[in-house]
Amino acid sequence: MKCVICRNGITEEGYTSLVLERDQTTLVFKSIPAQICHNCGEEYISSEVNKELLNSANRGYNLL
Ligand SMILES: [Zn+2]
Repeated sequence: MKCVICRNGITEEGYTSLVLERDQTTLVFKSIPAQICHNCGEEYISSEVNKELLNSANRGYNLL
């Protein structure tokens, strides 16, 4: 798809990592499937993946 940030780049399938912080805790997610812009590097994570991440994060925080 076309990047909405720089309006020049085209995104392609790739992987990214995401850091979530809450209170004193930092959770790091790696190898998240994402669309990444060639031109500016903007990362687009789908809403399904995003939901999964939030679920995982909540489970993770509950274990602490
Ligand atoms: Zn871009």
